[in-house]
Amino acid sequence: MPLNSPSPSITAMFREASQEARSVVNRLVAQKGESLDWIDDLRQMQVGYLDKSSQKADRECRAGCSGCCMSAQVDVTGIEAIAVADYLKMCVDPATLSKIKLRLERVTQRRYDQMSGTARQLPLACSMLGEDGRCMVYPVRPVICSGVFSISRDSCLDAEKTAKVGDFSSTIPLDNDAIQATGGISGTLQRILIEHDLDGNLYEFNSAVLAVVTVENPLNRFLAGEDLFRNAICTDAHSPPRKLAAGRHKILRPRTAKRA
Ligand code: SF4
Ligand code: SF4
Repeated sequence: MPLNSPSPSITAMFREASQEARSVVNRLVAQKGESLDWIDDLRQMQVGYLDKSSQKADRECRAGCSGCCMSAQVDVTGIEAIAVADYLKMCVDPATLSKIKLRLERVTQRRYDQMSGTARQLPLACSMLGEDGRCMVYPVRPVICSGVFSISRDSCLDAEKTAKVGDFSSTIPLDNDAIQATGGISGTLQRILIEHDLDGNLYEFNSAVLAVVTVENPLNRFLAGEDLFRNAICTDAHSPPRKLAAGRHKILRPRTAKRA
């Protein structure tokens, strides 16, 4: 059987993780709390599924191995970006934080330039990758970062040499149970935010952290409906405030026709 083929246990993993994430995220929205609590609770749930993976023993990821962080484009919800920004503000000294902000600005600008075709389509290293090859925000890293495991490091090394912008994992055999559970959790987080009339869109990670790293009380403002990510790069504009709800278009058309 090819490594990436779906199996009944994989589908069950996705469904189970989605279902549990629904109650966890609903509780977090009701509690409001701190952004780090959100990530702690999501991570705790995710780890339970990652531990159950049938491919756990085959994973070849190790601390300090960072080809994926050098090459992959990471997309996050606003909540995940806020948690990283809050963590940086709390745990990083001012001089390091200034350097990180400059890196966030540089990577975000480069992504914009790549999107407009004025920069070469080469992979960009994540701003949170430390000089020692480790993630500087490891305890609060995005859900996708903690749910992707390669089962062939050689494939990662090959991909590193040939990856184009935003493209790293298509040729790498991954722990599929982990990916399924992570997809269930991430998708449900987006869905529940939207159900609560909040921003459930996905944003390019560096630009999203940049958007909130200088904002006071970003979680409270996000949960109050403030559009904190209007200047971030939206990679999947599937809902308000980036995309108008279908119902709004339907209301606008008859009014315009009446005036004419
Ligand atoms: S996904 Fe690949 S490059 Fe990233 S940590 Fe795992 S083995 Fe290393
Ligand atoms: S947030 Fe951390 S784990 Fe994720 S891509 Fe960046 S450096 Fe790697």
